[in-house]
Amino acid sequence: MKPIELLRKLDAEAKLLEHIGAALGWDQETYMPSGAIDERADQLAYVETLAHEKATAPEIGRLLDELGSTEAEPSGPGSLPTIDRAYLRVMRRKYDQATKLPAELVSEMARATSLSQAAWVDARKHNDFKAFAPHLSRMLEYNKKVAACLDPSKRPYDVLLDRFEEGGSEEQVASIFGPLRVELVALLDRIRGKPQIDDSFLRRRCPAAAQAEASAYFMRALSYDEKRGRLDTTAHPFTTTLGESDVRITTRYVEDFFPSSLFSTIHESGHALYEMGIDPAPEYRRTSLAEASSMAVHESQSRLWENTVGRSLGFWLQHLPALRQIIAPAVDGVGLDEFYRAINKVEPSLIRTEADEVTYGLHVILRFELEGRMLSGDLSVDDLPAAWNEGMRRLLGVAPKNDAEGCLQDIHWPMGSFGYFPSYALGNLYGAQWWDAMKAQGLDPKAAVELGDLGSILSWLRSNVHRSGSMYKPGELVEKVTGAPLDPSHFVRYLNDKYAGVYGL
Ligand code: ZN
Repeated sequence: MKPIELLRKLDAEAKLLEHIGAALGWDQETYMPSGAIDERADQLAYVETLAHEKATAPEIGRLLDELGSTEAEPSGPGSLPTIDRAYLRVMRRKYDQATKLPAELVSEMARATSLSQAAWVDARKHNDFKAFAPHLSRMLEYNKKVAACLDPSKRPYDVLLDRFEEGGSEEQVASIFGPLRVELVALLDRIRGKPQIDDSFLRRRCPAAAQAEASAYFMRALSYDEKRGRLDTTAHPFTTTLGESDVRITTRYVEDFFPSSLFSTIHESGHALYEMGIDPAPEYRRTSLAEASSMAVHESQSRLWENTVGRSLGFWLQHLPALRQIIAPAVDGVGLDEFYRAINKVEPSLIRTEADEVTYGLHVILRFELEGRMLSGDLSVDDLPAAWNEGMRRLLGVAPKNDAEGCLQDIHWPMGSFGYFPSYALGNLYGAQWWDAMKAQGLDPKAAVELGDLGSILSWLRSNVHRSGSMYKPGELVEKVTGAPLDPSHFVRYLNDKYAGVYGL
């Protein structure tokens, strides 16, 4: 076996264990009985230790060396095929990151994370931040340890950000979020000067069973492959990859607000379509090259389907008749334009996942500020609820009545993910840039949506964004596909155009 083949084989074995862990994690969130939590934590810790051992086997290091990949030149010699060079870069990054973490830390952290998530579910239910606070402190401490192991010369938050968005830093993200925040606030101000949209019909009761049927309908409309995944319900919707042919999504049914499940199902389907579409080359299936370019690129897919497509007039021109039937009588007597304006109503609110497209970025900016401060030690865990509430008032002009609808709402910190939140807002920026690139390349995505032709949008995304997996760093991918670096003006223009129509600005 050639060294590159052996490397792929070892990598694929590590991926098997990773996917076994994903199956256990998915089960924990969906069907596992609550009494099984301690044992499940042990199971997860054990599998993750095995996966870590696989991924950090000295043989992988030797093969990378043998193939000419070094820390300074991770892609190896220029004489190798492009795809192999990309693979060496990905594997060198992964190997270096994994070998710098002691096995004991990985195992301890997996166990603590499992317990933290369970404590969060409980704390959120009982609105009890104090019960969750020790877990959050532990998650922060573990993340600082991880950052120190990976690169002690950098600030912890920069190291953590880079794990989700290669090349990202707190300063760079702040330089994008600063101007974005100004634009969002300006648009929000103009909208506030207009009469508010009446969306009260969205609160009509709609049974979970009807919403489940609607979810299935929209998954089919988006070409989600039901033979390679499934939909279940959880407290916080997510997508998880259990294998190349098993990409599962979850949603939640709120009976007096059906748009919650509708758009979270479309959102998670967008993530799943990305995962299902990755296929850089036959020999790289089930390897680390068959992974997303970055978390923000992932989010560009979910939010493009949810918002740019799923909240457009053309989409509902096609699909409102079907929805009307499926969830009858919930939208009886509601016209297309009334429906379109209601699902695009802009109103500062408390919950990020249900925020509109204009205020959404401000929710992300708040989390970006707070996690940066918690990691630098500028903000203590005990002071988080007060800082959260102050930030909500400052950025959005609203404040939560309790922590369940405040700093306990998201699963990210409970699961030990710091540096992830910026991806959500960066994803919007990538998404708008993909959309404009389609236009520049002769595909009219708006017209395609109006004609019910979502397939041509999916196939553009497949060939330009999905297929290559992690062959390109996010910054390279956006340049390759659109001919320019990430530029927030696409998103700002999209929002200004759209809301000029929705609110008659
Ligand atoms: Zn998402």
